[in-house]
Amino acid sequence: MKIQCTHCDAKLTGPDSAVGRMVRCPECQTKFRLDGPASDLNETISGWLLEDVANARQLDVTIKSHLNRLGGTAGAAGPTGTT
Ligand SMILES: [Zn+2]
Repeated sequence: MKIQCTHCDAKLTGPDSAVGRMVRCPECQTKFRLDGPASDLNETISGWLLEDVANARQLDVTIKSHLNRLGGTAGAAGPTGTT
């Protein structure tokens, strides 16, 4: 059966018996659970997956810009003075 990695979208092939089990993508090493035969669900899944990825990217960019603003000062402040 055809498997698509939920993380990097790599096209994989695996045994039908892999359904419902954890699989690991050889491309990005991400582990994910294989849900049901994809033939019918595929459009639905790729539909919300695309939205999900879009949201995730947006979130990622937001987080990164915040991190850049912080400028890596984290770690400078430590628990000092308490003996
Ligand atoms: Zn992958």
